Amino acid sequence: MRVNLISDTVTKPTEPMLKAMMGASVGDDVFGEDPTVNALEAKAAALFGKEAALYCPSGTMTNQIAIKLHTRPLDELICDEYSHVYQYETGGYAFHSGVAVNLIKGTNGKVTKDQVAAAVKSPADWLPLSRLVVLENTANKGGGSFYTLSEIKPISDFCRQTGLAIHLDGARLFNALVETGESPRDHGDLFDTVSICLSKGLGAPVGSLLIGPREHIRQARRIRKVMGGGMRQAGYLAAAGLYALENHIDRLRDDNARARSLGEVLSRQPYVADVRPVQTNIVIFDVHAPRTAASVLEKLAEYGIHASPFGPQTIRLVTHLDVNQAMIDYTLEVLTKIS
Ligand SMILES: *Cc1c(COP(=O)(O)O)cnc(C)c1O
Repeated sequence: MRVNLISDTVTKPTEPMLKAMMGASVGDDVFGEDPTVNALEAKAAALFGKEAALYCPSGTMTNQIAIKLHTRPLDELICDEYSHVYQYETGGYAFHSGVAVNLIKGTNGKVTKDQVAAAVKSPADWLPLSRLVVLENTANKGGGSFYTLSEIKPISDFCRQTGLAIHLDGARLFNALVETGESPRDHGDLFDTVSICLSKGLGAPVGSLLIGPREHIRQARRIRKVMGGGMRQAGYLAAAGLYALENHIDRLRDDNARARSLGEVLSRQPYVADVRPVQTNIVIFDVHAPRTAASVLEKLAEYGIHASPFGPQTIRLVTHLDVNQAMIDYTLEVLTKIS
């Protein structure tokens, strides 16, 4: 058996998703004339209670556009040190927007209002100007941990009182919402802009959405174009995103539950030093020396199980649409067997 737990980006379109893609009505989206892209953008905007949305090739692009929208050169963005915008976007904040980054040492990728308030700099000619706060929900490098509305509210209130912009990197937001029962609209209310990924747990092959006020999205279209992200008959891809939003949200519960079962079994293995609290579909754990992440990954690969190194002693497993219960049962057995 082959089990790919490397990332929830590895999913392939299901048969009904492919059918929806093949049957899409399309047009030239650079001219705003692709009906399927327009429908996807309208659906996402409505879901989050915002005026507009923009379909982009990747979550890196939606985040980078958001940073550019909210900042000017010599500003800084404030985020947790584990944030995707800092760790995994090739330093794009500096490249595209000419801004500095002010990192907070949070807990499992999450920050508090007091930490954000303490990070804000007083205006001075020799300091970057604090301008934007980015929260990540769920927090990828934080082990899939999530913020609830009550945790975000004070941070959002603080940003609004002090004139800071606030952006949500919600690449995996729906993995959190199926656990909390909270609504996308309530989360949307607390942010100026929201980014969600269709290509992670939702199972679309491509695409992310930037969601926000009409004026921001109008400007975001120009930034997407200059980044080379204006796509033509993108409706074939957007159809997959629409299908995913309509059919693949509720099933994220299964991914989360399967990740929890992996975490439980791992926490009982003598070679495992620590498992981060498993809240959604990501399991991050450390192995004891003399074992290393590389040696454990190699052992798992012998059984056809593939995962990612996340540090010299650290491994990440991610559950998703293309991992079924039989594969999880097999993986649980192997995790015990390699003790
Ligand atoms: C995957 C991811 C993104 C966007 O990644 P792309 O691969 O560029 O689509 C953004 N933020 C987080 C937290 C992610 O996990």
